[in-house]
This record gives sequence, structure tokens and C-alpha cells, in this order.
Amino acid sequence: MTSVLPPPPADLGLEREVPLARHTYMRIGGPAAYLGVPEDLAQFERIAGWARETGLRLRVIGGGSNVCVSDEGVRDVVVSLRRACGTFAFDGTEITAGAAVMLPALARAAAERDLGGLEFAIGIPGSIGGALQTNAGIGDGRCIGDLVRAVDVWRDGARATLPASAITFEYRHTSLRGSGDLVLGATLALVPRPRVECEAEMRRLLETRKRTQPTAEPNAGSVFRNPPGDSAGRLIDAAGCKGLAEGHARVSTLHANFIVHDGQGTATEIAALMAAVQHRVLAASGVRLRPEVEWWGDGDAPEAWQ
Ligand SMILES: Cc1cc2nc3c(=O)[nH]c(=O)nc-3n(C[C@H](O)[C@H](O)[C@H](O)COP(=O)(O)OP(=O)(O)OC[C@H]3O[C@@H](n4cnc5c(N)ncnc54)[C@H](O)[C@@H]3O)c2cc1C
Repeated sequence: MTSVLPPPPADLGLEREVPLARHTYMRIGGPAAYLGVPEDLAQFERIAGWARETGLRLRVIGGGSNVCVSDEGVRDVVVSLRRACGTFAFDGTEITAGAAVMLPALARAAAERDLGGLEFAIGIPGSIGGALQTNAGIGDGRCIGDLVRAVDVWRDGARATLPASAITFEYRHTSLRGSGDLVLGATLALVPRPRVECEAEMRRLLETRKRTQPTAEPNAGSVFRNPPGDSAGRLIDAAGCKGLAEGHARVSTLHANFIVHDGQGTATEIAALMAAVQHRVLAASGVRLRPEVEWWGDGDAPEAWQ
């Protein structure tokens, strides 16, 4: 695979054949043909330009908490913006955050300033850029889209600022997803709230997660989207899938919409288990579950994503 791909200019700082398992929350995934952590936006722009010239796909990895990367990896240029877009700044009740800033860190920083609104995000291990693809949120309906004022993007080789009104926010989907725009950062509108209240709520939310989700084992959060009017976890449980296993991967016995593994799991096993769950749920309830987790791979996606 390496031999047919072009060598990148040295000043781009791209590494070759870097295992993405190091960059995903699931700790699974084969190599990225190229991986870059640009120091600043200027270097990011040069990487993006080179990817375009060479016809390679450019992907951004954030917290890696919503992707399942193929065991064979991807023949793409993968970029982490943690250095180029990793800071945030407050202006009154607004916060402008780089795409790579992690939601829990932002929620804590806001609370320290007596600002609320982001408490819901305390247990979501994703970045601003990732959250803006899926309108990350929690079961009571609170989501990132409610807070967005503007989003800075990289579009067609240039930077642009989109007002919130130019973006559609839906259940686990936004119009940014699949649009080709790369998120560089966002401005969020928060509300005054005493720090103690913000922190108490965040503690409660984390305790609930600890009780109801398998937080100690590698996983990718909710694997399937909730179908309209129902919960994927309920359907998977009702279909008798809790504990169902494929190699090192298994459906969590604590939360049926989580797939966990013992550290040795592979993407192939995760994908096969997801397909097995889909079959069982379809047979039991007539509902075809759709993945929430995104597949990264070359060629056709596994059955679960088709
Ligand atoms: C334990 C656990 C709990 C979770 N709980 C929740 C929850 O309660 N609610 C919820 O909504 N989600 C939840 N998730 C899923 C996940 O955390 C969210 O979807 C999160 O927003 C993903 O962000 P990320 O930075 O990790 O994205 P990644 O997984 O890194 O990437 C996901 C997609 O976003 C794209 N992307 C990332 N950054 C950018 C960017 N800057 N520009 C353009 N595209 C970008 C990637 O290319 C990829 O296509 C959970 C996951 C885990 C592991």
C-alpha cells in the first residue's frame, strides 16, 4: 500500500502508516496512510492543498469517539487539529472554541466562569468538530445545536464563517455532515449560571452514566441510532442480544446499545456483531437499526452500514 502512494513534502509533517487505534476511543483501527497534526492553520492549509492536488481524501479525527476504523486502515490523509484548533476564549457569555477542543473540558471551563448550557456535554468524549457533525446531545433533548451562534469552516480551499441559521440541526445529524466542510471552530452562546449548580449537575450526569454505561471498557458510545419513537437499546435488549459476542467483542450487559471489547477486539468483529444485532432486532421487531457510529475504510462498507 505504501509504495503506490506519493511521498509528502517534508514541511507538511505528515507521518506514514500510523495506526489509528491510537486515535480512537475504541482503541481499534488499522493505519492511516498519512497522519498529520498541523502546528497551525497555515500548515493545515498546506496539508489540505497537497491532499487535493494528489487526489487523496482528507479526513479530520477529533476524539475518535464516533468512528469504527477498518482493520486495514484508510488510504487517506488524516489530520488531528488538536494543535491548530485546540484553544478557546470567552467573550461575555459567548465562547469561541477550536474544533479540537473536547466537550467535557469546555463544559468545565464554562462552569468555572459561572456559565451554563454545556453541562449536558460533560460525558460526551468528543470534540467540537465531531459534535457538530452529529448534533451531539443527550436523551432529554439538549444538544450542541441549541448553543451554536456561528461555525468556522474550511470550505473549497478557503475559510468561511457560517451563521447558525445556515446549518440544519436534527437528531444526531447536521447539514455539516458529509458536506465536505471541515470545522475549524465554533462560537457558542451560554447562559449565566452559578458554578456550584453547573458542577452539581455535571456530577449527577456523570454518576448516571457510570451506573448505566460500560465506562471501563473500550467502546464507541451508542452504536445504533434510536429509531423514531423508540430506543435502540430497548429493541436490542428485547431481541435478547445483551451479552451476544463475536470474537473479543460483545454487546454490553449493562447497556444494550453499547458494544465493548476486551482490548483485543477488531473492527471486523465489531462490524460482524453489529450485523448480527441488526438481524436479530429485525426478526424480533421488524425494525432495521441504523448505525450511529461511522465506518472508516476503503472500498465497500461492511453489511452493518449498508
Ligand atoms: C463513552 C461514549 C459516550 C458517548 N455519549 C454520547 C452522547 O451522550 N451523545 C452523543 O451525541 N454522542 C455520544 N457519543 C458519541 C461521540 O462522543 C459523539 O458523536 C462526538 O460528538 C464525536 O466527536 P469526536 O470528536 O470524537 O468525533 P470523531 O469520532 O473523531 O469523528 C466523527 C466524525 O466527525 C468528523 N469530524 C471530527 N472533527 C471534525 C472537524 N473538525 N471537521 C469536520 N469533521 C470532523 C470525523 O471526520 C468523523 O467523520 C459517545 C461516545 C462514547 C465513546
